[in-house]
Amino acid sequence: MISTNVNIEENINAVFEMQQQYAKDIRHTTAKERLEYIKKVEAYLRDENNVKALEEAMSKDLRKPPVEVYATEIGPVLANIQYIKKNLKKWMRDKKVSTPIAMAGTSSYIHYEPKGVTLIIAPWNYPFMLTIIPTLYAVAAGNTVMVKPSEVSGHTAGFIHKMLDKIFDKKHVAVFEGDVPVATALLAMPFNHIHFTGSPAIGKIVMKAASQHLTSVTLELGGKSPAIIDKTAHLSSTAEKLTWAKSLNNGQTCIAPDYVLVHESLKDQLVEAVQKNVNKFFNAKNKGVQASPDYGRIINERHYGRINGLIEDAINKGANIAVGGEMDAADKFISPTVLVDVNDSMEIMHEEIFGPVLPIVSFKNKEEVVDIIGQRPKPLALYIASKSKSDTDYFIQNTSAGGTVINDFMLGTSNPSLPFGGVNNSGIGKSLGHHSFVDFSNERGVIKRNWASLKIIFPPYNDGIMTMVKQLYKWT
Ligand code: NAD
Repeated sequence: MISTNVNIEENINAVFEMQQQYAKDIRHTTAKERLEYIKKVEAYLRDENNVKALEEAMSKDLRKPPVEVYATEIGPVLANIQYIKKNLKKWMRDKKVSTPIAMAGTSSYIHYEPKGVTLIIAPWNYPFMLTIIPTLYAVAAGNTVMVKPSEVSGHTAGFIHKMLDKIFDKKHVAVFEGDVPVATALLAMPFNHIHFTGSPAIGKIVMKAASQHLTSVTLELGGKSPAIIDKTAHLSSTAEKLTWAKSLNNGQTCIAPDYVLVHESLKDQLVEAVQKNVNKFFNAKNKGVQASPDYGRIINERHYGRINGLIEDAINKGANIAVGGEMDAADKFISPTVLVDVNDSMEIMHEEIFGPVLPIVSFKNKEEVVDIIGQRPKPLALYIASKSKSDTDYFIQNTSAGGTVINDFMLGTSNPSLPFGGVNNSGIGKSLGHHSFVDFSNERGVIKRNWASLKIIFPPYNDGIMTMVKQLYKWT
C-alpha cells in the first residue's frame, strides 16, 4: 500500500515538473494553436463510435439514458466548444481601459496571461461534462492541466482518460484516476490554479490544501437549492417542469430543486400534479417507474443508504409520503418521492438531498419564505415560479443565491454569457464562457507612460507640492 502511494506521488511529481516546463512554452500560443486542441475534442465527440462508448460507460455508472448522455453531457461540451471557438481570439486580446485625468500621459490595458499549471477535480454526477468543460477552458486560456475525474463514476473516468490521452501529450493535459490518496497527492503540488467541483465538505479540504501554496481556487459546490412557488404561479406547467428537474439524473444534480416552498393555497394541487407527471414520464404503460428505461438510478449503495436514511428520519419525525416512496436497494432504485408535513427538525431540511426526493413546505406569506431560506447557507440556485413581477423582485432582493431561474428549472448552466457558480457555502468563483477564461488567466494590469511624469510632486516637498497633490486627487 505504502509503495503504491509512493508510486502515485512520484508519477504526479514527474508530470507536474514536465507541465511546469511546458507551461512556459504554451503561454505564447495563439488562439488558432489552442483551438486546434479544442477542435480535436470536438471531432472525437462527433465520432458515433465514441458517443456509443460514452453511452455504455454512463449506463454502467448511472444507468443514464442515451438521450440524457447527449442532452446533459456531450451537448453542453459541444455548446461550450462552439462558444470558445467563436470568442477565444477576442478574449485573448489585450483589453484597453480608460485613464483618469490625474494619470494623463499614460495608457493602460489588461493583459491575459495563462495561470500556468492547473488542477481540475471533478464529481461523479455529470462526470463527463464537469470534467471536460473546465479542462477546455483551462486549455483555451493557455494552461497545462492535471485532471482527476471522479473514481465513483469509474467507467466514465476510463473514457475520459482514453480520450484526453489520445488528444494531448501528458506534458499538456494528463489524467489521474483514483480516489482520496490520488487527490491528496495532487493537492500537495504548488498548482497555479485549482478548479474543484464537488461537495462543500471536500471543497474545504481543497481550499485548505490550496492555501499552503496560496493557489487560487474556483470551488463549484452544492447545497440546498429552494424552489419557491407563489400563489400566482402557473401550477400545471410549474409542476411538470419541477417533476422533470427533480427526476433528471435521479435528482443527482447540483442545481436540482432541493426542496419546495409552495403557497398553502396550491400545496394539494401541486402534489396531485407531480403524481400525474411522474406517471406521464415514467409509468405510461402502467408497469411501474422501475421498469422505465428513462429513469436513472442512484450512483452507489452509500448514496442509496444516505437518501434512505433521510427519508426514514423524516418519517420518524412525522413526515408523510405523498407521492412515490417505492425503493429497491438491490437495484439502487428510489421512485420520485414527495414528502409532506416536513419540519425543520428533520435532517432532510438541512442536508443536500441529491436524489429524487422532494420535501414540500407550505407558506402563508412572502416574509416566511425569506426567513426559511435565510436560515440556511446561501444556495447554488434559487427558483421562483410566479406571475407577479413585484413578488419575484421581492424574492430576488431579499435572498442570496449563486443564480436564479424564473418560471423554469435547471437552465442555470445553459447560457455561457452568464456567470455560473455559487456563493460562500455553494461555491467561490464563477465559471463558463468569458468567466472561465478569466478564471484560468491572470488579469495582468499594464500601465505605459507615454509622456509627462509625476515629477512635480517629487521631494523636497513644500506647500506648492501639497496643493498639487490635493489637486491631483480632485481630478481622480
Ligand atoms: P465529492 O466532494 O465527494 O467529490 C468530488 C471530487 O473530490 C471527486 O473527484 C473525489 O475523488 C474528490 N475527493 C474526495 N475526497 C477528497 C479529499 N479528501 N481530498 C481531495 N479530493 C477529494 O462530491 P461528489 O459526491 O462527487 O459530488 C456531489 C457534490 O458535488 C454535491 O454536493 C453537488 O451539489 C456538487 N456538485 C456541484 C456542481 C457545481 O457545478 N456547482 C456540479 C456537480 C456537483
